[in-house]
Amino acid sequence: MQGEGPSLGRRCAFVRLGGCNLGCSWCDTPYTWDWTGSGDSGRAWDPRAELHAMPWQEVAGLLRAFAAELIVVSGGEPLNQQRRLVPLLRDLTGHGHLVEIETNGTVVPAPEVAALVRFNVSPKLAHSGEPRARRIVPEALAALAALPGTAFKFVCRGPGDLDEVAEITAHLGGAPVWIMPAARSRAELDRNLAALGDAVVARGWNLTTRLHISVWGDRRGT
Ligand code: SF4
Repeated sequence: MQGEGPSLGRRCAFVRLGGCNLGCSWCDTPYTWDWTGSGDSGRAWDPRAELHAMPWQEVAGLLRAFAAELIVVSGGEPLNQQRRLVPLLRDLTGHGHLVEIETNGTVVPAPEVAALVRFNVSPKLAHSGEPRARRIVPEALAALAALPGTAFKFVCRGPGDLDEVAEITAHLGGAPVWIMPAARSRAELDRNLAALGDAVVARGWNLTTRLHISVWGDRRGT
């Protein structure tokens, strides 16, 4: 199930790719990239246990077996290996699937990828702990904003984060903006969603919950 953003609630199949070019302190998928324990959890994950190299044909078969119209490619940062994704994306769209890619917005999308998918772009704010020059790449954001269907999604802890969102989105040409509460538990989700609601409405943006947290808490999918 897509738990966030414009496709919230839609049945889908996920493929989660390893590796990320950022290292957000609060990352909820550190098992895709944190091999040294630099994140909030302090846990160093073992890439030999977490990463499984597979031919794209095998990945396509596994995804198609879910019989879900929507496929979501997430990470980590999927665009780090975007050219290797092209055969998989061609196969999936050729079989009638819609594909969304979740990206942190720091990588310019290749035209052959952009032609096949819709992007959910989640630029990171200062509270990620990453320096601005690493997390905000204007040419990548502009390229993604210019594509039809792109949605921007910002993880916010409360209304105090919204000025930073406004500053970033001022350069994105009116692409739709979604605000999502930072949360790794139901209690945190409820608290931050309630804190954000009125302020997001006042800004004229969209609000999304994290439906998978409401349903399954912080339990990792299989
Ligand atoms: S960009 Fe996403 S996957 Fe990468 S560290 Fe930040 S939250 Fe985690």
